[in-house]
Amino acid sequence: MLLFTPGPTPVPQNVRNAMSDETMHHRTPEFEAIFEKTRKYLFDLLQSDEVVMLASSGTGAMEAAVINLCHNTLLNINSGKFGERFGKIATAHGLGNIEIKNEWNTPAGVDEVITALKNNPSIDAIAIQISESAGGLRHPVEEIAEAAKALNPDIMIIADGITAVGVEKIDITNIDCLIAGSQKALMLPPGLAILGLSAPAIDKIGSGKGYYFNLATEIKSQRKNTTAWTAATTLIIGLLEILETIERDGGMEKLYEDTALRANAVSLALKALDLHIYPKTPALSMTTVDDENASQIRKILKNDFGVNVAGGQDHLDGKIFRINQMGLIAPYEISWVVNSIELALDKLGRRKYDGAANRVFNDSYFKVAK
Ligand SMILES: *Cc1c(COP(=O)(O)O)cnc(C)c1O
Repeated sequence: MLLFTPGPTPVPQNVRNAMSDETMHHRTPEFEAIFEKTRKYLFDLLQSDEVVMLASSGTGAMEAAVINLCHNTLLNINSGKFGERFGKIATAHGLGNIEIKNEWNTPAGVDEVITALKNNPSIDAIAIQISESAGGLRHPVEEIAEAAKALNPDIMIIADGITAVGVEKIDITNIDCLIAGSQKALMLPPGLAILGLSAPAIDKIGSGKGYYFNLATEIKSQRKNTTAWTAATTLIIGLLEILETIERDGGMEKLYEDTALRANAVSLALKALDLHIYPKTPALSMTTVDDENASQIRKILKNDFGVNVAGGQDHLDGKIFRINQMGLIAPYEISWVVNSIELALDKLGRRKYDGAANRVFNDSYFKVAK
């Protein structure tokens, strides 16, 4: 089965091999050396002033960011399930919460954020997804962050980059906390979350909040190449392996280029089949199609062609399907996916198969590819 869901993503064989060794104790010079190397890669990847790895799924890092960086009221951007989650975290911790809510295909606008900030002076942090995975959209995070900081430089900008870090280069000039997770663009099993923090964020964290997710405690340990609690040793070994693999394959820039090229080619191929791209501002992390036959298409892909793509959640259940673009993906695999979609449309009596999807995909992908 080809796993083409936007998380979890397939784990490359060499990474699985690296993680299959005997368990290493986390309080040893051997593991500290691995931790140190991994940290160096993460500083390069995130471009931030500090880096923290947590043994948790991505939501743990979202919670850590909110409790440590928001002390009063959180403004969260809800254009989907993950944006909504930030508001729920704030409420669960007794913080104030203002929410900007839009349909799942609609990104937040700079103006509505600035209006909310002006109307609610108690807001001291903004939480937003770079790529909102619920509908596959890209928020204009950099513009929003810049405008918010121009209004009030003390506002903390928390950017959930779980489906953006490793997908595209992110300008973190105005971002105080950039979050990544293991099971999406980093091609690892679930269970490891990463935070990149700015110097002002470290100041605001001070002595930290919470216990397990107290970022001050973690920063203190991780600067010494260890962790406050038992490290997710196996996943960190896997993380080092995947980051070394990406470097061997031409580096992050090459990965960003390939991802953009592939996402664009898939989008063109699907449009050539008269399919409709759901988000108004599509993210590069996934290709999301809204279609009345979304469920049937997913079923045919799975049963007839061995392809697993994701559906939608909540009110988009049965209304969309999402194709992963994150990670190291062989062109022949994604080419198989778009061809399978064309065959599925034929099977549903929607459109006679003529090979258009692959023709358009190949034209776009291989003309530009070196
Ligand atoms: C997957 C994901 C998360 C984290 O979810 P977990 O299940 O806790 O790992 C957060 N934000 C976005 C945008 C995601 O895609």
